[in-house]
Amino acid sequence: EMVTMPIDVPELVEQVLAGSRQHIAKALTLVESSKPAHREKAREMLRQLAPHTGNAIRVGISGVPGAGKSTFINAMGGKLIDEYGYKVAVLAVDPSSTRTGGSILGDRTRMGDLANRDEAFVRPSPSGGHLGGVARATREAMIVMEAAGYNVVLVETVGVGQSEVAVAGMVDTFLMLSVAGTGDQLQGIKKGILELADVVAVNKADGDNAGNARVSARDLSIAMRLVSSDADKRRVPVLTCSSYTKEGLDEVWQAVVEHRAYLEKDGSLQARRTEQQREWLWNMVRNEIIESLDTDPSVQQTAQRIEAGLGIEATSALEGAEEILRAFARAVPHLPWA
Ligand code: GDP
Repeated sequence: EMVTMPIDVPELVEQVLAGSRQHIAKALTLVESSKPAHREKAREMLRQLAPHTGNAIRVGISGVPGAGKSTFINAMGGKLIDEYGYKVAVLAVDPSSTRTGGSILGDRTRMGDLANRDEAFVRPSPSGGHLGGVARATREAMIVMEAAGYNVVLVETVGVGQSEVAVAGMVDTFLMLSVAGTGDQLQGIKKGILELADVVAVNKADGDNAGNARVSARDLSIAMRLVSSDADKRRVPVLTCSSYTKEGLDEVWQAVVEHRAYLEKDGSLQARRTEQQREWLWNMVRNEIIESLDTDPSVQQTAQRIEAGLGIEATSALEGAEEILRAFARAVPHLPWA
């Protein structure tokens, strides 16, 4: 659709600002494209949308697969619409996603209630590619959603490594969902994910599991204090909640709101966003280089020839790499950004 349809940027901007779902979808497809002509249009659109952004509450949500992220977002999103009067956007960062496959947000059923609401917009992760590209598209999608009048943007991510860091780099508050008895509290410490968390919630605190959840929250709370070397640092609240009974959801949201107020009070919200801008800047530069490397026809031709000729000798990759880089250097003057 995007390939054949002309993109009228002023019209797209006007319709996104008016909240047209059809145009929001089109704007999201545009920012997800890496084609040079689309990137140019996307930048133009984002420049015009930018003045209408910055006021939404941006929350990252992570947790291992099965922690209950989809169910939580469905329940919390419904609550934010019904009881707080918000419009809620849900985005996702999952570089392994194939969109049609069963990965993150691919299966819409658990978020079906929310996805069907007029006050909500649920967008699965851009599919495949490298993390830098997915993170770039998600960050730009955030601008689109804020300009379209969504006051809360929830960014879901899988509970492993680099995606977390990328999401922490685009939100104000990072919420980690944990589950009692899965041992992920220790894994979390190892991977440094707990250090990213601004709020922790032990999910599925219902039925027979409620007691375990409380014990787990206590253990995690102690662990959080141990990972933090800075004695003056804010205590990260560790709560329990259930997306089934909805118990604790209000408290989790309250903790998110309090964290944001804390950032605003000591001026670190601005510092956080400035640091995020700096990271984004370099992310974009690196991303453009990788994108060009991956898509330039002359580089790809050289790469294919070299890949086909790879032998078992250790030097063939070494020499091949040099040759590909030389092909890239020759291609640079003709690249769209040069
Ligand atoms: P995700 O992979 O992190 O998105 O997890 P899902 O939202 O798909 O949930 C994984 C499983 O946990 C599903 O079978 C859910 O029904 C279940 N689940 C999610 N939230 C709760 C909860 O609050 N309580 C209980 N008991 N089960 C839950």
